[in-house]
Amino acid sequence: MSHNVEAIKANSARLRGSLLQSLADSITGALKTDDQTLIKYHGSYQQDDRDVREPRRLAKLEPDYSFMIRTRTPGGVVTPSQWLKLDQIAKDYATRGLRITSRQALQFHGVIKTELKSTIAEINSTLMDTLAACGDVNRNVAVAINPAQSTLHQQVYELAANLSDRLLPNTRAYYEIWLDEERRYGSGEEQDPIYGEHYLPRKFKIGFAIPPVNDVDVYTQDLGFIAIVEDQELLGFNVTVGGGMGASHNDPETFPRLADTLGFIPIAALERIAIAVVTTQRDYGNREVRKRARLKYTIEDRGLDWFKQEVERRAETNFSAARTVRFTHSGDSFGWQYGVDGRLHLGLRIVAGRIEDTESASLQSGMRAIAERLAAYGQGQIRLTPNQNVLLANIAPELRAEIDQIIQSSKLDLHQHSAPVLTESMACVALPSCGLAMAEAERYLPEFAGKLQQLLDQHGLAKQSLQLRISGCPNGCSRPYASEIALVGKAPGRYNLMLGGDHVGSRLNTLYRENIDEAEILQSLSILLASYAKDRVVAERFGDFLLRTGVVKQAKTISAVVLS
Ligand code: SF4
Repeated sequence: MSHNVEAIKANSARLRGSLLQSLADSITGALKTDDQTLIKYHGSYQQDDRDVREPRRLAKLEPDYSFMIRTRTPGGVVTPSQWLKLDQIAKDYATRGLRITSRQALQFHGVIKTELKSTIAEINSTLMDTLAACGDVNRNVAVAINPAQSTLHQQVYELAANLSDRLLPNTRAYYEIWLDEERRYGSGEEQDPIYGEHYLPRKFKIGFAIPPVNDVDVYTQDLGFIAIVEDQELLGFNVTVGGGMGASHNDPETFPRLADTLGFIPIAALERIAIAVVTTQRDYGNREVRKRARLKYTIEDRGLDWFKQEVERRAETNFSAARTVRFTHSGDSFGWQYGVDGRLHLGLRIVAGRIEDTESASLQSGMRAIAERLAAYGQGQIRLTPNQNVLLANIAPELRAEIDQIIQSSKLDLHQHSAPVLTESMACVALPSCGLAMAEAERYLPEFAGKLQQLLDQHGLAKQSLQLRISGCPNGCSRPYASEIALVGKAPGRYNLMLGGDHVGSRLNTLYRENIDEAEILQSLSILLASYAKDRVVAERFGDFLLRTGVVKQAKTISAVVLS
């Protein structure tokens, strides 16, 4: 497998492969096998509707193929006019509206092959692209939302967006295939000193955190930058490396891992350090065994000291001692709020990031109406959060009442009336579209959260905040291992119950019960919640309680996070 993917990359003519021929083939809704790998670098996955896989097989039909398309939106920043175009694209080409990912991108699902090119071309017409949103390259760069720190956010966002551009693969393939640019392969313009011919061994994720909020879960990123701020001035960053969520069931060679801190760097060293980390991983990451190819395993296998020295050598700079940082939570804030600079923001809860119109709510129409109003007024931004929510940023106070009205009528004010346990939850897409899903996640979240909320109510914990994350398989796209309660899909209706992470993102949870069904999950949680209600100390979170009382043990792979 690994050699196969490596060969596909190397022989792809800079990510072109035979994508043009695959797209032109009207016999099938699928791409040729190798092109299914290469399309990822263009920001898309071939998928099929798993709900109808079996009936179609019995009817001797090919699977119901379609494509997921993911935007590259560093920091999840979208202008109102971009939103309006993306909303129209979703209406024209996708199913189930727009979906916010846990990396602040937007996903379109259900796009058919014959409309793939128009969809990607139209996304580009919004001055946004999908290049490198998937594949063995740097993915969408995540940036803290932190509405309290608007000015700082802008500065950190710009650094992150520049880094995102700097780490794009150097290929014109994207522009030729989707935007009809003239073929330039072989013209000598596509030298790629960062990625070379083989790109990275696996995907690579970067996040920028602005304390005290760890909404990007910086310790789960391959490479993290934690803003060090004094008197509202950005001094530089603590650099973290080697976080990652993905694992395989029953394979101790694979595991989730939180990042280690390498040290502090000034702003000027940011790009050099990032390129040094990426190229070290390019040269030393495991290309033999794909499931051991993430940076976290390179660091585990070669040691943090070796890795740090190699990065310092390549970047021609040394880290200084890491500064003390303090995170207070990894969730989002909802409702109207003012930043320290007096700007007005509004946090909106979106369950599992799905923005669509249903019988019970009109989230897509509501967001459209807000974007129309902001675009007409000429002020305001839509930011997608790393917890799959929306922040309307820098809103003119005179629009507040009007926006409140839209929110109320479209039911975008979920944070005000949903089960409290739902406010800190996340879920990956899983079934029916993800080919790797072993169990439901997004579709199951509201139902499971409702049942968990009933348990909380029964134990007198009705208003208790709890972090709940569900993933349909151990790849962990919803960052389940960094939460207080996680369900990780094992088989239809069966999950591993993981417990004991903190709500700050600085401690992994651990396996509590393996491969259990809903009744067993709820029964286990009911017993634990009963003792939590009785024996917790003041303000103690559920995950911390489980660790203190020995219900779960400290996770084996724990990071050297620097916390005060
Ligand atoms: Fe698919 Fe697994 Fe990721 Fe969920 S965690 S989206 S099931 S790969």
